[in-house]
Amino acid sequence: MPTVFQRIIDREIPADIVYEDDDCLAFRDISPQAPTHVLLIPKRPIASIDALSDEDAALAGRLFLVIRDLARQLGVAEAGYRVVVNTGSNGGQTVEHLHFHLLAGRPMTWPPG
Ligand code: AMP
Repeated sequence: MPTVFQRIIDREIPADIVYEDDDCLAFRDISPQAPTHVLLIPKRPIASIDALSDEDAALAGRLFLVIRDLARQLGVAEAGYRVVVNTGSNGGQTVEHLHFHLLAGRPMTWPPG
């Protein structure tokens, strides 16, 4: 059963896509938790951080650079933002396809819930 993110990659369900390249896709979260809430995913179906292999080092690094560029493109880099990668059950992960949350547009609090 493909995840909802795989179905977005395959264009089976719509998404508000803000960035795409050969390796990754970014789109707005359907239930935004901040004025700017974008999800960045690799196109390869990696379930979570825990499923990354050592061979994924270049991809993992690239995802961080895309986050950097997305934050600039969305105009939130200067004010700041938060990047969250929920992982596994206790981490609050609900979709088993690796994704970075880019949250911005309001001050964030700490500790997270
Ligand atoms: P997580 O709880 O970290 O696994 O995050 C999953 C995120 O995916 C949640 O913030 C959801 O709101 C978001 N989400 C679920 N379905 C969709 C969808 N069809 N389009 C955009 N975002 C979605």
